[in-house]
Amino acid sequence: MANNEFEQRRQTVTAGLAEHKLDGLLVSFGPNLRYLSGFTGSNALLLLTASRSILFTDPRYTIQAGQESTCQAHISKGPLTVDLVAAIMRWRLRRVGYEPAMMSVDAFQSLEAKIPAKTALVPIKGWIEELRTVKSPSEIARIRRSVETNSQAFEQGVARVKPGMKEQDLAAELEYRMRRLGAEKPSFETIVAGGERSALPHAQPTAARFENGQLIVVDMGALREGYCSDMTRMLFLGAPGTKVKRTYKAVLEAQLAGIDAVRAGAHSAAVDAAARKVLRGYGLDKAFVHSTGHGLGLEIHEPPRLGKRDKSRLKAGMAITIEPGVYLEGFGGIRIEDTVLVTEKGCEILTPTSKELRVI
Ligand code: ZN
Ligand code: ZN
Repeated sequence: MANNEFEQRRQTVTAGLAEHKLDGLLVSFGPNLRYLSGFTGSNALLLLTASRSILFTDPRYTIQAGQESTCQAHISKGPLTVDLVAAIMRWRLRRVGYEPAMMSVDAFQSLEAKIPAKTALVPIKGWIEELRTVKSPSEIARIRRSVETNSQAFEQGVARVKPGMKEQDLAAELEYRMRRLGAEKPSFETIVAGGERSALPHAQPTAARFENGQLIVVDMGALREGYCSDMTRMLFLGAPGTKVKRTYKAVLEAQLAGIDAVRAGAHSAAVDAAARKVLRGYGLDKAFVHSTGHGLGLEIHEPPRLGKRDKSRLKAGMAITIEPGVYLEGFGGIRIEDTVLVTEKGCEILTPTSKELRVI
């Protein structure tokens, strides 16, 4: 990402400080801090004012801060908040925004104890997250590469699936493959679950071995150049019966209906409703126990959320997932998930992997 992209983002924020009645904004949440500064280290605070961008970090990151960010780096020998508060006092900042959703009570209390009485700490919710929802061309390029890496790793891993293989071994294989293909790591803990365990939407892979006649859910994502991908596909070992085929058809139709409903200006809830309506037609809507999708980018789950009650409207340039699923205790679960890019007239499905049930 070009340095001027980070600078543009910071300019957008500093231009909005007056509207939020702030003299400065303290950014402490890692993904927001990375979005605005480019810095990826684990210990940092970013203070933005109308005329300055200061990145506070510790001596472990002296070299890295200079390489990754054009912000003025301040290397603190002790707690970062001591130097942060000194800067707030030096520049006589009276109203400083902070991110309450992503700050521990402990961190807040230690900041509040040091801050001068004349300075107000103002909670700012979701501002940077909102800016992050619409992706820039360079972010979209990264998400595309992440999605492609993920799908390649899926093909390489799935080629090794056979009865007797452990869920854990398939998960390990998929994660190894994505790293070999250039991912930094998985974007979340890979989900692999066979048989009845596939009915757990967020199953952890176990030592259970795959057997003939089983459904297998694989939900995986790569983190590449800092950006996430997310895909769910279903495998079947042996010959699927009528119930598996019918349920699979229902979920696939629901997923396609969800994708059809995506376009700039659509309500998130309308996309969810489109998928849910198809499942209702099959009598399966009560088995769809989560929302239809979520935004993704620097984080695997970020706004917007595409659920029953989500009032937000989609915008061109948002990267979201469409992932209806049906979970039947004692039978198993079926979910199909793509990463898609919202466009003015609809969406582009980024995930290249076939949505046919993989019969092995
Ligand atoms: Zn997923
Ligand atoms: Zn997802």
